[in-house]
Amino acid sequence: MSTAAKIFIDGQFRAAEEAHPVIEAATGEALGDGASSTEAEIDAAVAAAAAALPAWQSASPDHRATMLNAFAAALDQRARGTDELVTRENGMPMSLSRGANGRFPAALVRYYAQLITDTPIEEIRPSMIGHTVVRREAVGVVAAIVPWNYPQALAAFKLAPALAAGCTVVLKAAPETALDALVFAEAAAEAGLPPGVLNVVPGGAAAGAYLVAHPGVDKVTFTGSTAAGRAIGEVCGRLLRPVTLELGGKSAAIILDDADLDATMKGLRTASFVNNGQTCHLSSRILAPRSRYEEVLAALVDMVDGLKVGDPLDTSTDIGPLVSDRQRDRVLGYIESGKNSSAKLVAGGSVPADQQRGWFVSPTVFADVDNTDRIAQEEIFGPVLAVIPYDGDDEAVALANDSEFGLAGTVWSTDDERATEVARAVRTGTIGINDYQLDFRAPFGGVKASGIGRELGPEGLDAFFSLKSIYRVGPAET
Ligand code: NAD
Repeated sequence: MSTAAKIFIDGQFRAAEEAHPVIEAATGEALGDGASSTEAEIDAAVAAAAAALPAWQSASPDHRATMLNAFAAALDQRARGTDELVTRENGMPMSLSRGANGRFPAALVRYYAQLITDTPIEEIRPSMIGHTVVRREAVGVVAAIVPWNYPQALAAFKLAPALAAGCTVVLKAAPETALDALVFAEAAAEAGLPPGVLNVVPGGAAAGAYLVAHPGVDKVTFTGSTAAGRAIGEVCGRLLRPVTLELGGKSAAIILDDADLDATMKGLRTASFVNNGQTCHLSSRILAPRSRYEEVLAALVDMVDGLKVGDPLDTSTDIGPLVSDRQRDRVLGYIESGKNSSAKLVAGGSVPADQQRGWFVSPTVFADVDNTDRIAQEEIFGPVLAVIPYDGDDEAVALANDSEFGLAGTVWSTDDERATEVARAVRTGTIGINDYQLDFRAPFGGVKASGIGRELGPEGLDAFFSLKSIYRVGPAET
């Protein structure tokens, strides 16, 4: 399959000036040409977003909600092709892609369409001289920069609340997933979103950096690596430009000594491995109580041996390929570092013998890992777990918190209250008890090197408002 590279600016599809091949993760073959958006194209996208802003932000919330519901319907119609396209681009197993790339974006757009109609745009508060009108105004032109691992879902995290709030958006998709980003453009065109309200310009890091610093941008919202997040944060700090950063993680699964190991292992299949280990919130450090250490390790190795590695388009596959040869080599590099440490390799540790095409890595487990080792401290972003023994709940919490990151985590126990007490002590933005299921009605994000700000829930909408206080003399009219 070959497609001409496209971008979407001011309601029009244009042939991209520059392109790169998008590679199918499972085969290593070219899937199509993705746009490598140029500075001139990004200038045009920002100009279109700025021109569309006054009408879109002053439209009534009900009108925007109607438009967004039409946008959601158009996304829904494409869901069954979008899920497969993303699976080909990044290797995400189809069983996950159906929801994450297929159904989820439309559901989130509908959620924010409802929320904007329920959110008071102006509130009146009594003041010393009379009353104050506290007004929520769209923050302006938003630069939304997303990675390749959940390209549709993570773009929706940003587009849905930004558009609902009255912002206009320039979406910069990652080069690895430049093709599926255009689905948003097709849906916007079909739904009749006004030209310029949503613009799509895929490209690499340089295109992203150019967009972040663009004088026409009012707010940056970024999901990606901590390294890129720091660079973007520095630029936004200098420009005093509001920024939301959703970055990396190295979360801990704390298995308490009363855990039901069968249920725990069932949960860890996703909590630790979902999307082939390419998920920011994964519990990739397994903290195991020393009193049950051998039992936990045996159960874990058993669970990992049962994971089906293979064609991501097959709905029974648990682990597909990594997104690129670069990512596979990076993950294999971490596995080498684990092999050269004092840790013990107990599962996986290489490219599977029967998967030499594409970018596969066997699910891998290292036991007896020291929490200061590289494989316990750095985000690997592949199917590699580090098992670390501990004595007592306090040490488990201390180990969980002994990390540069603070995005997520899990606690596994038959006692919900005890697990919740442990969860309260872990310094992260989110944490799951006996599972990890993101809830789009609740804020999501990290602390420490995992980021700044929150997405999802009403808090995710607030991130696209700027607040204005209008002080008025005398009592408020009723
Ligand atoms: P990356 O940071 O290299 O790239 C992410 C996006 O940012 C891409 O679109 C890329 O082109 C762009 N980019 C890179 N450098 C940039 C710069 N200096 N300025 C502007 N844009 C730039 O990350 P990746 O390797 O593609 O994605 C994996 C990372 O994303 C992991 O670290 C993972 O934890 C993180 N992630 C975080 C979350 C979260 O919500 N916290 C969710 C998913 C992924």
